Amino acid sequence: MSITDNLLKIKGSLPKNVTLVAVSKTHPTEAVAKAYAAGQRIFGESRPQEMRDKYTSLPKDIEWHMIGHLQTNKVKYIAPFVALVHSIDSQRLLECINHEAAKNSRVIDILLEIHVAEEISKTGWDIAELRAYLEEGSWRELKNVRIRGVMSIATNTDDESRVRGDFERLMEYRAQLAEYFDENFNIVSMGMSDDYELAIACGSTMVRIGSKIFGERDYSK
Ligand SMILES: *Cc1c(COP(=O)(O)O)cnc(C)c1O
Repeated sequence: MSITDNLLKIKGSLPKNVTLVAVSKTHPTEAVAKAYAAGQRIFGESRPQEMRDKYTSLPKDIEWHMIGHLQTNKVKYIAPFVALVHSIDSQRLLECINHEAAKNSRVIDILLEIHVAEEISKTGWDIAELRAYLEEGSWRELKNVRIRGVMSIATNTDDESRVRGDFERLMEYRAQLAEYFDENFNIVSMGMSDDYELAIACGSTMVRIGSKIFGERDYSK
């Protein structure tokens, strides 16, 4: 199946309240252009320079989402244009985004990436640490970021009950954290190619789908 066919099939199957992020990392600009021609406007990338290069050469009505782990020294590459950063997992990174957004006279939307998988993973906020940080309150002074919701990557396993457990945990955390925010705290980014249907059944409002649209990735390129 072609990129266009894959995209339209997935889009047609999603409930109206679920946003599709087409994850184009490692795929060439031409692949993104094909999905764009089929109507897709939201794309996810995980490397700042790659995202910036694609932003430069593609139409400007694309919303670029940063979904990968982000180093503070690379935030400057994406701060002028990024629409949503899914992967905020530390106070330091949040403050850095705020600083770079201010330099660009922007307010940047972000999601709090929370560690829910049972497997040891490097990314994602420990929920106890996140709660302590939100309670402490200094984040309220960061006027150039807007915290829009939560994001997680589920355990990489065929065991559906474990994946479901991860998704349910994120939904529970989101409900607990909502007391700190207003009605704009309404995005739950969870679900990838292999688990997005389950994620939606558990309450996801934003799915990040790469290989089911663009095919397998080749990281050697
Ligand atoms: C690569 C990536 C995806 C997309 O993965 P697929 O399995 O190809 O759909 C989704 N989320 C994150 C954070 C990713 O890094």
